[in-house]
Amino acid sequence: MVAIAERILLTKSNVRELHSISVYLEHGGYQALKKALSMPPADIISMVEQSELRGRGGAGFPAGRKWRFLPAGRQLKRYLICNADEGEPGTFKDRQIMEFDPHLLIEGMTIAGYATGSCQGFIYIRGEYDWIAKVLVRAIKEAEDIGFSGNNILDTGFSFCVDVFRGAGSYICGEETALIESIEGKAGRPRLKPPFPASCGLYGEPTVIHNVSTLAFVPFIIERGPEAFKSFGKPGSYGTKMFGLCGHVNKPGVYEHPLGVSLKKLIYEDAGGIKGGKRLKAVIPGGLSAPVLKANEIDISMDFDSLTAAGSLLGTGGIIVLDEGVSIPFVAQKTAKFFAHESCGKCTPCREGTNVIRFLMDRLMQGKGSLNDIEQVLRLCRYMKGATLCALGEAAALAIGTMVRKFRDEFEELVK
Ligand code: SF4
Repeated sequence: MVAIAERILLTKSNVRELHSISVYLEHGGYQALKKALSMPPADIISMVEQSELRGRGGAGFPAGRKWRFLPAGRQLKRYLICNADEGEPGTFKDRQIMEFDPHLLIEGMTIAGYATGSCQGFIYIRGEYDWIAKVLVRAIKEAEDIGFSGNNILDTGFSFCVDVFRGAGSYICGEETALIESIEGKAGRPRLKPPFPASCGLYGEPTVIHNVSTLAFVPFIIERGPEAFKSFGKPGSYGTKMFGLCGHVNKPGVYEHPLGVSLKKLIYEDAGGIKGGKRLKAVIPGGLSAPVLKANEIDISMDFDSLTAAGSLLGTGGIIVLDEGVSIPFVAQKTAKFFAHESCGKCTPCREGTNVIRFLMDRLMQGKGSLNDIEQVLRLCRYMKGATLCALGEAAALAIGTMVRKFRDEFEELVK
């Protein structure tokens, strides 16, 4: 059961049936698109740059800068892709937007498509979100029928179609170049970079890829201006973020707050504290790839820089809360199994590293491990760092290595 407590920027909590275009229009929907289409595309890019909007998918790359990376001149065909793969364990924020407010995403994509000169948009949605794909298809049809999407939008001469492309359950297809390969009909494996998608993306054409939440902010920025957006959050981390809390909390759900909100507040006020009155043991603050924080490290501001400084990541904002009853070696074993399973096998450090770590974790959990196995896991994590083709291998190393380092006594206990 997912509860949405506080809506600030992205969604409107008191509006029912917002997925229908008539309700969306009643509440000011598509006004930002009308405004955008009356502006030169360069001005829209400037507004997004001024807002200092950073990607909400995990990497936090400045959105406006991504648009600037597109090659000058508009003679080339361009594509816009919305990354709705949302495969990171513990993450379920984007589905809230797509399921309950799909037109917000379509409006954001159409504005971004106009600004970047794209002719076609794709929403790459994870295969498990079957019913949400249907919601999106219905919403796109509604938008096309009224003239907000498709050919000659609002009689401006600008055409932009949005297609929904369903993934097949592979975690690695959340990586932008693997996602592109997947849309092209190939096995979803990351490409060597450079070239980056901005110059050579889908079908070899310039392509911009953004997470759902990033695109959903665009209508607000265009309608209300970059300064209004920057009135939320803090320098380096402007705007709000949808945080998804799960695990051992009383009220799991999605809570929207300005970036910089305290992790402690999210856990103890929004999510109602730890289930069963137990004590907190650890928190994974940004999806499974984000290094774990111990209970005494949660007095922290949830923004890009603070979490990086604390040795973790804001990541997707999927917060996994673990109570005192959880065995961290058990969590590390499951994490190792997950990454070994999802590794695409293209590069050796990740393909071999994740599998050997999984083997060592299994041995430790069976009580057959040694202190040398613990050292070997840490050594492998060190070697994998910076040596893999895409972020998956490094994420696995960072997540598992941090669990072992911070809770080493529990791993040693298994050996004893
Ligand atoms: Fe594939 Fe892992 Fe290498 Fe990424 S790091 S390309 S997932 S093998």
